[in-house]
Amino acid sequence: MGLKEAARQIKESLNIVDLISEYVSLKPSGRHYLGLCPFHADRKPSFIVNEERQIFRCFGCGTGGDVIAFYMKFHNLDFVEAVKELAERYGIPISWKEGASSPSRVDKGSLFSLNEKAKRFFRQMLWASKVGETARVYLKERGLSQETAQAFELGFAPPSYDGLASHFKLAGVDLSLAEEAGLLVKREDGSFYDRFRERLIFPITDASGRVVGFGGRVLYKGEPKYLNTPETPIYHKGSILYGFSQTKPFIRERGYGFVVEGYLDLLSLYEHGVKEVVATLGTALTPQHVRLMKGLTTEWFLVFDADEAGVKAAMRAAPVCFNEGLYPKVMVLPEGEDPDSFVRQNGSQAFLAFKEKAQNIFDFLIDTLAKRFPATLEGKMALLREIQPAIEALKDPVLYEIQIRRVAERLGVSEQAVKQRLLLLDRRPFKSFSEACHKGYLERTILEFLVHNPKYIPEFEEIGLGEIFQTDLYRRFYRALLTLDEDLGVADLTFEDLDLQALLSEILLSPPPFEEVAPGRIAAEIKGWWLKQRHQRRLEELLEAIKAAEASGQSEEVLRLLKEYQELRCQI
Ligand SMILES: [Zn+2]
Repeated sequence: MGLKEAARQIKESLNIVDLISEYVSLKPSGRHYLGLCPFHADRKPSFIVNEERQIFRCFGCGTGGDVIAFYMKFHNLDFVEAVKELAERYGIPISWKEGASSPSRVDKGSLFSLNEKAKRFFRQMLWASKVGETARVYLKERGLSQETAQAFELGFAPPSYDGLASHFKLAGVDLSLAEEAGLLVKREDGSFYDRFRERLIFPITDASGRVVGFGGRVLYKGEPKYLNTPETPIYHKGSILYGFSQTKPFIRERGYGFVVEGYLDLLSLYEHGVKEVVATLGTALTPQHVRLMKGLTTEWFLVFDADEAGVKAAMRAAPVCFNEGLYPKVMVLPEGEDPDSFVRQNGSQAFLAFKEKAQNIFDFLIDTLAKRFPATLEGKMALLREIQPAIEALKDPVLYEIQIRRVAERLGVSEQAVKQRLLLLDRRPFKSFSEACHKGYLERTILEFLVHNPKYIPEFEEIGLGEIFQTDLYRRFYRALLTLDEDLGVADLTFEDLDLQALLSEILLSPPPFEEVAPGRIAAEIKGWWLKQRHQRRLEELLEAIKAAEASGQSEEVLRLLKEYQELRCQI
């Protein structure tokens, strides 16, 4: 089975509405389903999913395509990875031989199942082993119940160097694969030892609950305090929110969520009944994080420390969130407290009371920065420079104006002055709108016509119409159209390229051009127009040649060319 065939099988077996619903909340609306786009700053739903055609499309950012395209884009995968993962997750039997073209890579499925085995081993060690006693005591001291520990499937890595290693060996596991999964480390002599030793273990799952890696915390003293799985083919910490798969129902139910930094912050809150929470595991918020968050709700509270690190984190988070269309609030706990210590001392009511004092992230930044910089001209300029990335990430024009006004008020200068200053700071190249719009309009119309009327493709190709596609994207799309099987519709085209996917979905969801005119007439007009173009070009070439021949005194040649020129002119 070829890759294309496998892709087709996946498209036939999966319903795009079901799959996308796992990540985006969709509501039926007319002939489509509607939701907030996970790929851009979307404030009112502009993301539609068409069940009939099995495609999605965002009218805000132009993303679109089929179920595979969505999966690729959402999880940041290439085409082959997406096809394999989809087949695996949804149990679609596909079998194709990976040709020499795709590099031999570790099978992700076996890494998942290895992690699953390790998770069971660690749990066994926590609850049913003698060495696990210290960890059980530790949990009690941290105020974590067995229910909470079970809900997140916590475990314990025994103190020895060959706890997991010998367990795996006995179970006949390929140890080098376990190294690939970040569970074991290879010694110089080729033997393996446990990466996690004498640590409380937090299994880290992806959005659908599969174990992608582990975090390990020392129980009492030791360095480093936290140890995580290194980056592996299935563990990319920038795209994982700890707790997401367990707490997403609570976040959906409450309609808001908290973002905290560490495992224990999350677990303590959960223990005290604040279950609507996810954790970033010590990395700055990434666009992938924000997309996951947005899929659940748009009301988020970023819980930061009151110190300098908190301000920095907010400063970094703001443009990332704005770029994705999320406008979170910032919650700052009292000096010296983190969510874990705070909720254990003061309880969930006190924690939730802080939520009421949360400021939107922009106000928080302005207020904090204004306190930091002196009210001099230099101070104001410095503040503007700091806040510039956040302002520029505001794609919504109304919000942009509002925030400019806020900054102006705060600095005691006019809005115009703020805008001018920002322009001076801005060094992005200016793009001409009209240039982008006019170029390619004709190419576009012809492509649209062909997508809606594929039977004219061979006729057009025969007279060399492909030459008109000067825009790279359109040219590639046209070439793909040429490979279409006669018995297949255009919607059956499978593109590996997301740009082509987006273009196809866009064209399929828009009405055909000149809808009221019969396709045959349009085809004839386009062909006529093209032949005229070609004639025109030939005439120009002839004129040039005539001039050249005259200049070099080749009178016979001049006559011959003139004759051809006149004949051609009569034809038009
Ligand atoms: Zn979008």
